[in-house]
Amino acid sequence: MSILDALRERLGDAGLLVGGDLAAYENDWRKRYKGRALAVARPASTDEVAAVMRLCHQHRVAVVPQGGNTGLVGGSTPDDSGRQLVLSLTRMKRVRELDVANASLTAEAGCVLAEVQAAASAAGLLFPLSLAAEGSCTLGGNLATNAGGTQVLRYGNARELCLGLEVVTAAGEVWHGLSGLRKDNTGYDLRDLFIGSEGTLGVITAATMKLYPQPRERLTALAGCASLDDAVALLGLARERAGDALTGFEVMNHAALALVARELPQLTQPLGAAAWTVLLELSDAESAQHARGVFEGLLESAVERGCVQDAAIAQNLQQAQAFWQLREAIPLAQAQAGLNIKHDISLPVSAMSAFVAEMDAALAAYLPGIEVINFGHLGDGNLHYNVQAPAGMAPAAFLATHEPAINALVYDAVQRRGGSISAEHGIGRLRREELSRRKDATALALMRAIKRALDPLDLLNPGRVL
Ligand code: FAD
Ligand code: ZN
Repeated sequence: MSILDALRERLGDAGLLVGGDLAAYENDWRKRYKGRALAVARPASTDEVAAVMRLCHQHRVAVVPQGGNTGLVGGSTPDDSGRQLVLSLTRMKRVRELDVANASLTAEAGCVLAEVQAAASAAGLLFPLSLAAEGSCTLGGNLATNAGGTQVLRYGNARELCLGLEVVTAAGEVWHGLSGLRKDNTGYDLRDLFIGSEGTLGVITAATMKLYPQPRERLTALAGCASLDDAVALLGLARERAGDALTGFEVMNHAALALVARELPQLTQPLGAAAWTVLLELSDAESAQHARGVFEGLLESAVERGCVQDAAIAQNLQQAQAFWQLREAIPLAQAQAGLNIKHDISLPVSAMSAFVAEMDAALAAYLPGIEVINFGHLGDGNLHYNVQAPAGMAPAAFLATHEPAINALVYDAVQRRGGSISAEHGIGRLRREELSRRKDATALALMRAIKRALDPLDLLNPGRVL
C-alpha cells in the first residue's frame, strides 16, 4: 500500500489533505518560502500522530511539523520537492486539565495561544506567554521555537513556563512526560531538549504549563526618549522602582513608527515623533492606586533626570490596547511593505546602544538610503534589527544583491560584542548556514550527535537548524 493510502486508511478523509489548494500549509507567513507538500496530515490524537510517524518511518518520508505557521525562519513549511509530508497539529486543541491548586494547565499542541490564555483566565489565573501572533500561533509551535514575546522580562521564555511534555519520536513512540512537578531530577532533561528544537527531534503533542496569579492592575505607558542610551537609563530606573512589577519594556525607533504611520494610518500615535519610543507595562499585585502611584513617580523622575522627553499613561483598557497595538503592528507593517532583511539579535543590554550606533553608521555607509526598522524587547536585550531597501529599490532585488553582505556586517558586530544571532525566532532554514559558521564547534558536534541519536534517518524537519 502506498504511504498516502495507508495514511488515509488510518486518519480518514478529514485527517489527510492531498492535492487541491494547500498554499496555507506550503507557504510561510512572510511569503519568503514557497514549498510543495506531498500531502498534509491532520491527526486528531497523539495515537494518530504516532501512527503517522511510524508510517513515515517505514516509508522513509520526511515530516515537517506545523502549528499555526507563523514562524519567521522558514521552519514550518515543506521544501519544493513535493516529497515532504506536512504534519499539522491544528486539530489537537483540547485543554486536557487545569489544576488550580498546582497552578498548571495541560493542553494539546494545536491549541492556539490566545485560547490557552483564555482557559487560564476563565479559572482566574494567568498564562503569561504573549506575542503578536497569539491569535494564530500554537502552544506546540511556541515550545518548538521556545518563543519569547512581550512578558519575558517577568515570566521568562516558553521554556521557563513549561513543566512537562508529551512527545512522539521519529520512530513513532510516545514519550509520556506530562507532569506538573516543579522539581524532578531524574536523569537528563528531555523536556528541555525538545523545547526549542524546531521540530527536528520530535513532535510535541501536549504540554503542561505553569500558571500565575492574575495581576490586580495592569498599566501601560508610552515614553519618548532622545536616544537609546536614555531608554536604557529608563529601564534601570524602572527596574529600581517597580522591581518584579515591571512586566513589559519594549522599544521602537523612529523609522519603525513612521513605517506604521505609512502602512497603517488608522492607528493613532499618541506621542510626538521621538528618536525612540518605549512601551512600559507594570502589573501590580496590590491595587490600581498603588500601581498608578509607582508609574507616575517613575515617569516624573525619568523626566527630571532627562532620560524621558514626553510620556503618556493609558487611562483605560482601550488606550492600553491601542498602545500595544502600535508595537505589535510593526511586523505587520513590514510584511505589508515587502520583504526585508530580518535580524533577531540579543546582546547584553549594556552593549546595545554602542552596537546600534556602530551598525546604523556602517549600513548607511554601505548603502545610502538604507532604512533600519529597529524595535524589540529591550528589557530582554533583544532587538529586531530589520533592514529595508532604500526608497525606490525593489525588495526582492535588494535581498538578492545585499543580504549576504548585510548579514555579515550585522552578525560580525553581534559576535564581537558577545551576542546571539537568534534571540527568539530560531534558526529554521533562514539562519542555518549562519549557525554552522558561527556556533562553537563543540556545541555543533554535540547537537549533531543528539540529532543522530533521536532521528537517525533524518526524517524530522531535515535541512532545518543543522
Ligand atoms: P509554526 O510556525 O507552525 O512552527 C514553527 C517551528 O516549530 C517549525 O520549525 C515547526 O516545524 C515547529 N513545530 C510547530 N509545531 C510543532 C510541534 N507540535 N512539535 C514539534 N515541532 C513543531 N516569536 C517570538 O518568539 N516572539 C515574538 O514576539 C514573536 N512575534 C511575532 C509576531 C508576528 C506578527 C509573527 C507573524 C510571528 C511572531 N513570532 C514571534 C514568531 C512565531 O509566532 C513564533 O515562533 C511561534 O511560537 C510559532 O508558533 P506556530 O504555532 O505558528 O509554529
Ligand atoms: Zn519579538
